[in-house]
Amino acid sequence: MQRKALKAATVLALSGTMVGGAAVTASSAPSDRGDRHADIRNVIYLVGDGMGRTHVTAGRERFYGAAGRLAMEKLPFTGAVATYAVEKDSAKPALVTDSASSATAWSSGVKTYNAALGVDAYEKRVATLMEQAKAAGFATGNVSTAEITDATPAGQFSHALLRGCQGPVYSDAACLPRKADGSYETAPADRTLVTPIAEQIARNGTADVVLGGGLARFEPDDQKALEAQGYQVLGSFGDAALPAQTAASQKAATRADLAAAKGRKVVGLFNRGNLTVEQAKAALPDGAPQKQEPTLAEMTGKAVSLLAKGNRTGFFLQVEGAQIDKRSHANDAAQTLGEIKAFDDAVAAAVDFAKKDGHTLVVVTADHECAGFNIIEKGSYTNAEAVAPPVNVDGGNTANNSSPSRAAGGAKDPARSTGPVNGAGSADAKNFAPATFRTPDDPAGVADGSADASLWLTYLSGNHTGADVPIFAYGPGGERFAASQDNTELYGKMYRSLFGKAPRH
Ligand SMILES: [Zn+2]
Repeated sequence: MQRKALKAATVLALSGTMVGGAAVTASSAPSDRGDRHADIRNVIYLVGDGMGRTHVTAGRERFYGAAGRLAMEKLPFTGAVATYAVEKDSAKPALVTDSASSATAWSSGVKTYNAALGVDAYEKRVATLMEQAKAAGFATGNVSTAEITDATPAGQFSHALLRGCQGPVYSDAACLPRKADGSYETAPADRTLVTPIAEQIARNGTADVVLGGGLARFEPDDQKALEAQGYQVLGSFGDAALPAQTAASQKAATRADLAAAKGRKVVGLFNRGNLTVEQAKAALPDGAPQKQEPTLAEMTGKAVSLLAKGNRTGFFLQVEGAQIDKRSHANDAAQTLGEIKAFDDAVAAAVDFAKKDGHTLVVVTADHECAGFNIIEKGSYTNAEAVAPPVNVDGGNTANNSSPSRAAGGAKDPARSTGPVNGAGSADAKNFAPATFRTPDDPAGVADGSADASLWLTYLSGNHTGADVPIFAYGPGGERFAASQDNTELYGKMYRSLFGKAPRH
C-alpha cells in the first residue's frame, strides 16, 4: 500500500521534475554549439569500479606479462584522479569515498556525502550529465555488471538521498537518512529523492539503452511504464497479479534477446541481482542460466551499435565493470583479476568503435580504489585484516561465491593463509599469505597458487581506500584528461566534449 501511495506521489513529482529539468536544460545546455569541437560526437565513459592503479598493473602482468599492456593502457592520454567525498551538510573532506558520492562527482560536478546520488552535500538535487545530454538530443546509454540500480549507474539517472533506496518497495530505513539522535530526517518536498531508484529509472526516460542486472528491483508496472514510453523490454518483469515477484515469476533477459534487440530504446536486465562474475560463469555447466548473461564487452558493443544507429547528434554512454570492486571487497584475487580482464575487453570494444568512427571520445577510469590491492615481493607476506577475512557481500548471486569460499568465524583462510607464507610467520593468523598467480613470463608448468608463480598479490583491507585512481583517454578532447585532477572535474571535461563549452557551475 505504501508503495502504491508513493507511486501516485511520484508520478506528480516526476512530471514536476520534467518541467524543472527542461528549465535547467534551457539555461545550461547550449543552443549555440558553434564552438563545439567539430570532431566530437560521442562520449563513452567506462568505470572500473574499485579499480586502483595496482589493479591495472596486476591485470597487465597476469594476462599480458610485465612488458605487455592492457587495452586501457594503450590509450594515448593518461592521468590520475583524486576521489575524496565530503561529510554530510558540510564541505569537510571525507577522504575515502563510496561509489555513490564518486558517481555524483563525475555525473554532476559536485562533492557530496557517501551514499548520496544526484544530490549535493546539503541534499539539493543536481542535474546529471546524462540528463543534460538526453535533453539536448543525444542518445544515452547506461550499462553495468551490477544491479542497474546500484550506485555507479544510478548516479547518472536517478536522485536519491540514500543509495540503498533501490526498490522494489519504499522503506524509511532504505530511503531516509538518520539524524544525529537516530531518528529519520523528514521526507523532503522533492519526493523523487525518496522514490525507489528502480521506479525513477522506469519513468524518467533518462537513458535510452539500459543493460545490466537488478531485475528483482523492478515490478510489472515498471515494465508497463517503460513500454508506454516506447522501450523494448527484454525478458519479463513479472506477473502483475502477484503481490511480489519471485525468480519464478520474472524472466531475466538473455544474450540471445540482446543480440536480437533493435529498438532505439532497450532495457535488458540479465540477472535478478548482480551479473555473474566471469570466472564463476566459466565454471558452470552449459545449461546454467548464468551462461545466458552477456559479457560486459558484448553489452558495450551492442549499446554502442543501438545508440549510434541513425543518430545525428551523438551519444553519451556510461559503462561500469562493477565486480572489480565487489570481488576486491571479498579479497578474491582470482575473480578480481578476471573482472579486470572482462572490463578491459569492454574498453577494447569501445575503442574499436571509436577508431572506426573517428568522432568518439573514450574515457576509462575508476570511482575509487578498493581493498588496498597490492603486488608484493615473491616469498613475502603481509600483516593485514586476515584474522577476520572480509565476508562476501555479494551473496545474492549464488554463483558469485568467492572461490575458494571464505573461511568463517575469523578462521584463517586456507586458500591464502597456508602454503607459501614466509618462514616463521606462517603460524600467525594475522599473517596472511598472498594469492599467487602465474604470468605469461613464467616457465610452462608453473601453476597458479604455487610458490613458484611470479605474481604475488595481497590486500590491505576489505574496504575502499583513498588512493588516487588512474585515468586513460582516447579521441578528440582526450588530452584534457592527461592531468592530476579531481573527480568533479571529469563532469566539466565531458560536458565540454559533448556541448563544446563549459558548464555553468
Ligand atoms: Zn565498493
